[in-house]
Amino acid sequence: MRATTIFRSVLQFPHTRVWSVEFDPFGLLVQVAPTTKVPRCSGCGCRVHAVHDSRARNWRHLDACGMPVTLRYSLRRVRCPRCGVVIEMVPWAEPKAGFTHDFEDHVAYLAQQASQTTVAATMRIAWRTVGDIIQRTMSRRRKPNLLHGLEHIGIDELSYRRHHEYVTVVVDHGSQRVVWAHEGKNAATLGRFFDDLGPERAARIKTATLDMSGAYIEAVSTRVPQATLVFDRFHVQRLAQDAVDEVRRAEVRALEDAGERETLKKTRWALLKNPWNLSAMEARRLAMIQKDNRRLYRAYLLKSSLCDILGRRQVNVVREKLEQWISWALRSRLKPFKKAAKTIRKYIDGIVAIVATGLNNGRTEGLNGKIRVITRRAYGFHSAASLISFIFLCCSGLVLNPVFKPSPLLP
Ligand SMILES: [Zn+2]
Repeated sequence: MRATTIFRSVLQFPHTRVWSVEFDPFGLLVQVAPTTKVPRCSGCGCRVHAVHDSRARNWRHLDACGMPVTLRYSLRRVRCPRCGVVIEMVPWAEPKAGFTHDFEDHVAYLAQQASQTTVAATMRIAWRTVGDIIQRTMSRRRKPNLLHGLEHIGIDELSYRRHHEYVTVVVDHGSQRVVWAHEGKNAATLGRFFDDLGPERAARIKTATLDMSGAYIEAVSTRVPQATLVFDRFHVQRLAQDAVDEVRRAEVRALEDAGERETLKKTRWALLKNPWNLSAMEARRLAMIQKDNRRLYRAYLLKSSLCDILGRRQVNVVREKLEQWISWALRSRLKPFKKAAKTIRKYIDGIVAIVATGLNNGRTEGLNGKIRVITRRAYGFHSAASLISFIFLCCSGLVLNPVFKPSPLLP
């Protein structure tokens, strides 16, 4: 059998002819061409007759028996009445991609399973290229209709690039999937989501979980007024944790001014962790705070009791306990807690709704955790688009398979 015939059966590209197979210094070089004589425009896909010029181009394909395979074709530039002068469309790759569809699909499959560094090393491509490939694959493979049938949504902001830039993410609590994401974190950003959703689907939204940031609250209450607002338990707890931190810093400063430096060193985690997670050393530090620093210990008690209240199950009890907590915090003579208490009083309905709707379960936290891991891994991403396509790759329920070509003799 001739090598060209074998390669046509191995590659299995639609509408593609194999002209020759030879070795070059890098591995195997396969000359290919589309079977249709009349080129298609890569912008709009229509057939165009006017050829501007052509230039030889290479595409990296999956290795054959461990040897790199390169496809080569003289790519034509065409003059399209709609798109102007653009390159022609080829059946084996995306316009402007240096890799075949199969290669990119394989990279995307691996990126779902392994770290970006592993993928880059396995496929012998640059770390950045992994991001570019995922972006292209996701624009081809992203699931349609992700916005259908939404009832309970969660809205969250993610910071990346060391907290300099933000992405707004919308998840579906029903399917536990990311359904929408966009660069930015203000009311206008979230407004785009409701634009994409359209009035009919927006009218079916029953609840929205979100943090206590004014921007999102404004967008949700104007665009889906029927929806119940539910504040994320994680964010409510964060209010108290941040307040403890603020009290601790103020106490450290006061001690420094008085010339006593050492006593509050390394107490941050002892104060922020749940009591059952404390190490022996941290428990000792906490006991010392209880003995030596009444203000800081009061802050610690306020924080832990708020976490306890949010863990309860009866709606009435939660409301009652929250009101007691607010008045305790307001009397605490701790400025950061007074501020937190006012915020909690303002949004108490949405906080009680955490318990009432039961939307505060571990599964949601699991999804949020997964998104955060991806974001942390993505510090090197150079654009929001790369990060968003990575989030969709791993959290939108997309099922990818490794590339497999059956033998042509398979019955
Ligand atoms: Zn066109």
